[in-house]
Amino acid sequence: MSVQGNLAKIRKKLIRRASQNLARGSDVRENFEKELERFCDLLDHAVTTGDPAWLDPVLYDWANSGTQTDVQEGQKNATNLLNIMFSLTLETARDTLNKGEALDLVAAILPIFTYALDRTARMEMETRVTFFANEIANVQAQLERLDRSKSNFISVAAHELKTPLTLIEGYTSMISDVTKPDDSNNGLSPLLQGVRTGIQRLRQIVDDMIDVSLIDNNMLSLNSQPIWVSHILDLLRKNLNEFIEERHLNFEVRRFTGGQEWLYADPERLYQAFQNILTNAIKYTPDGGTVIVDGRTLPGFIEVTVADTGIGIAADDQAMIFEKFGKLGRAELHSTGKIKFKGGGPGLGLPISKGIIEAHGGTIWVESEGHDEKSCPGSTFHVLLPIRTEAKDARLNKLFGDLSRPTEETNVQEETSTDSPAA
Ligand code: ADP
Repeated sequence: MSVQGNLAKIRKKLIRRASQNLARGSDVRENFEKELERFCDLLDHAVTTGDPAWLDPVLYDWANSGTQTDVQEGQKNATNLLNIMFSLTLETARDTLNKGEALDLVAAILPIFTYALDRTARMEMETRVTFFANEIANVQAQLERLDRSKSNFISVAAHELKTPLTLIEGYTSMISDVTKPDDSNNGLSPLLQGVRTGIQRLRQIVDDMIDVSLIDNNMLSLNSQPIWVSHILDLLRKNLNEFIEERHLNFEVRRFTGGQEWLYADPERLYQAFQNILTNAIKYTPDGGTVIVDGRTLPGFIEVTVADTGIGIAADDQAMIFEKFGKLGRAELHSTGKIKFKGGGPGLGLPISKGIIEAHGGTIWVESEGHDEKSCPGSTFHVLLPIRTEAKDARLNKLFGDLSRPTEETNVQEETSTDSPAA
């Protein structure tokens, strides 16, 4: 008898056995038997044509019939079902057919079942991968929503704080105006000074919050003009001198190639970015330590490095510190002073520096062997800035000419550079 004939001979028994083995309850059994009939029909076609792909529709349905939990737990229901179907087919063939017929049948269906198992395993794996890809996309969407609400909160809070702060500033300055200088006798002047310092700190925090929300919303606009990076660093060194001396630090801004090369950048914003990095270097280096600002030219870029002999940053934290509120959890450090050793802030400084540098087309990262307040392994911040010799605004190009040409124009600009807004 032909293989198809033998298959037809065992079909009824096979379906009964499979249904008794695998389906519980009469409803389930009825539906399951229909599926088995379909499987046997397609198996018959596959044997007749020699093309196992006939089984694809039923394999596809079985592979995709798992519940969410099955998929999540990686249960291979369809693959298991096929394995059981194969064993039952062998068993039924052995019981029903003679040895030769059974062997012929097994030889014919073995490659078809091998194909079916391979295909089903792959489809189940793909279903699983799709499931987890969706899960990851959901988590990502949730995180993005969370980050957006954090950013919205910062923006709303900053703008809400700005109005009363301006009022307080105004009234304090009016009180100062009506307070006679010799009022120090009745103790008013130092009190007013205290209020003014508090207002300044609050203004700084509100401004930082506004900058962070501008950066988050890609709204930071740059006011580019020709600058020397060295000018900004020298100016910062000068302005931070009081703190450097207070903390007895050896603070060196070295000359480096590229530092005195003209490039288009926003001097005020770059000043702000480097100020945060240098202030941190002061804050996180113990008294008597060293901070060295150096740099070099790389193809198309200027690299500035700020190396300190401070407490260092653990590897796990090195990416996190550039996220807003990167250190918010350490409440014990907050508001302990602007440049006091380990005096923490709201954790907005580095995210702002990163936002400003990235808005210039640059990048920032940190290297440190780890965090240790005893051995002080130090940290080195790297800032890469593109050497932009052409301004986006054509009017600026016309005004300043081509910055890459070292002509007598350079001398003119050299003289005017001290008038840049950062200076
Ligand atoms: P903060 O207001 O806390 O100083 P920043 O964004 O400027 O916020 O810095 C984030 C965190 O990065 C700091 O709280 C500190 O833990 C760490 N950090 C920044 N610069 C240094 C440094 N030079 N050495 C050691 N730790 C640093």
